[in-house]
Amino acid sequence: MITGRVYDIQPFSVHDGPGVRTTIFLKGCPLRCPWCHSPESQAFYKQLSWFSMRCLGTKVCNDKCLKACEKGAIEYGQTRVDGTALDLNPGADPAEYTLQLVHVKRDLCDNCGDCAKVCRAKALELTGTDYTVDELVRMMKKDKQFFDRTGGGVTVSGGEALSQPEFTLALLKALKDRGYHTALDTTGFAPWAVVESVLPYVDIFLLDLKHMDSATHEAVVKVPNGPILENARKIAAAGGKFQIRVPIIPGFNASEKNMRETAEFCVELGESVEVVQLLPYHNLGVAKYARIGDDKVLQAEPPTDEFMEHMKEICESYGLKTIIH
Ligand code: SF4
Ligand code: SF4
Repeated sequence: MITGRVYDIQPFSVHDGPGVRTTIFLKGCPLRCPWCHSPESQAFYKQLSWFSMRCLGTKVCNDKCLKACEKGAIEYGQTRVDGTALDLNPGADPAEYTLQLVHVKRDLCDNCGDCAKVCRAKALELTGTDYTVDELVRMMKKDKQFFDRTGGGVTVSGGEALSQPEFTLALLKALKDRGYHTALDTTGFAPWAVVESVLPYVDIFLLDLKHMDSATHEAVVKVPNGPILENARKIAAAGGKFQIRVPIIPGFNASEKNMRETAEFCVELGESVEVVQLLPYHNLGVAKYARIGDDKVLQAEPPTDEFMEHMKEICESYGLKTIIH
């Protein structure tokens, strides 16, 4: 039976399309956006995450994660003073509550997950779970009344969901057959044949437009924007609907010029664009990079409210309904 690899499922989501929704996040993406707030979404394989704040320390665990790793990829790492214990015992000697944490040597780790199986604190966790379509559809059932009452539904997101084309098609079709409103949150970077196959089962595409200059797009996110824009034109011609999403990233696309060019493209897509959603860069995902041993994260100052309002005014001046996340 066909399975899809999922890294998260978020119920009661209100920013991933109309109404109240459940968003299913699929693993794996061909793009490499350095501001990505879910870096664990990028790799297709299951990946070990390390949450230092959850670690109980090797003394408590009797080194069991170190012993579980046959590849020698876990070693003693930094120490941490356990603030919780100190809060409970004001005035106590911090040395008594110093925990010996571990460190994952990523060059030796093959993401087998053996250490995660023995870590009861879930400080070591394997990100990525394989589900069948039936399993996911069954999970959605309990929230259908919320979806129906609010005009919501199910959003299939990623990563890039179209990078698991057979599974995403089967999932969207199964949801549509059961009367769910469906949204597909996509980079748009996929072969047209794949996009075309899901068209009848997607009520609205949440399409990211990151930069209108293809060379800049490719230099930063590692793929050109040509296939994305072409797919968007074809979806519009086929009668598909869009919520266009524009992340506003300082030093990349946060300029009046790019905003105008993006708005002009949205105008070209005509009535298929229901709304343009501007997403201000935030740095809440930065800590996640360390968890997977990745250091390619963008660290920038988020745009100000005034700047976001300015971007919104530009978009609206083209007659586009525009919201800020
Ligand atoms: S990573 Fe898990 S098993 Fe290892 S010391 Fe920390 S809590 Fe214990
Ligand atoms: S996932 Fe496997 S190889 Fe990696 S640290 Fe854990 S036990 Fe070792």
